[in-house]
Amino acid sequence: MHDQVSRVQSRETTAGILGSGADSAIPLAWNRADARAIYDLPFNDLLFRAQTVHRRHFDPNRIQLSKLLSIKTGGCPEDCGYCSQSAHHDSGLKASKLLEVQRVIEEARQAKAGGATRYCMGAAWRGPKQRDMAMLVAMVEGVKALGMETCMTLGMLSPQQAGTLAEAGLDYYNHNIDTSERFYPEVITTRSFAERLDTLANVREAGIKVCSGGILGLGEAVDDRIDMLVTLANLPEAPESVPINMLIPVPGTRLADAPPVDPIEFIRIIALARILMPASHVRLTAGRTAMSDEMQALCFFAGANSIFVGDTLLTAANPGDDKDTSLMRRLGLTAAPMEEAP
Ligand code: SF4
Repeated sequence: MHDQVSRVQSRETTAGILGSGADSAIPLAWNRADARAIYDLPFNDLLFRAQTVHRRHFDPNRIQLSKLLSIKTGGCPEDCGYCSQSAHHDSGLKASKLLEVQRVIEEARQAKAGGATRYCMGAAWRGPKQRDMAMLVAMVEGVKALGMETCMTLGMLSPQQAGTLAEAGLDYYNHNIDTSERFYPEVITTRSFAERLDTLANVREAGIKVCSGGILGLGEAVDDRIDMLVTLANLPEAPESVPINMLIPVPGTRLADAPPVDPIEFIRIIALARILMPASHVRLTAGRTAMSDEMQALCFFAGANSIFVGDTLLTAANPGDDKDTSLMRRLGLTAAPMEEAP
């Protein structure tokens, strides 16, 4: 019931934006044709509509800042075609063990001093093993004690594991669907799209907020990108955070020679994410090093309102605090306080 109410509210909010008149014209579930029609609007109309939706739910000049730490790097048994951490690829990345709890907490302390309000801990696993759970719980509790929001991305989670992390106080769990269900097997074969959705359901059921998005530039068509957003928007509750990555091709991976994403197409997807999921934080994630300041500014105008800060993003380069601070200052953007209500 609650799910249905939140969907109806979401559609009502969007009704005027679509210019369709009566709320009843807005379906309870998005479909590709409607989403594609929005995506194909003239660019200025699309951005104006996305910005209008954005202002109804968020302060347009606030950006949520997260910091991401790799707590266990490389040697992952999954075969995600884009990933330098997959053991199926020869990317030259050195695998490491799970970091010590105190090291993770100390890094979080520094991230907080640098302005981050959410601390994301990522492990290159198919899923956590039972023997890892005690350390993961200690990390969540230690970072929470600093007064930060916590997020983890550890691969697939069982209902029990999700429950354990929820009890420890985990605020968010990241598990990306990556792309459309149709294109997914072209990118990953070691776990299915349905398994991804199962983990998202386990996380939601445990009472943890959901962070789920995808990657552009895997060789997918525009309709795959739109289907990915439609899948996320049509979950019983849309994810609270929607990270949108632009592929950084990594030598040694299957997608090392993938062609670059058209920046205009990328911005259109950000705008569509904002319109389909009005109350979610839309996060510019990997690929920002390849984006100009102007492109990032347009992404913010299109409704992106979250970034990762710091020099590295798991194993990939990130613009770094100085560059982000400078860009935010030039754009008049400030860091959103923690748990800003949408
Ligand atoms: S994306 Fe995650 S699950 Fe996939 S290979 Fe990389 S670390 Fe493993």
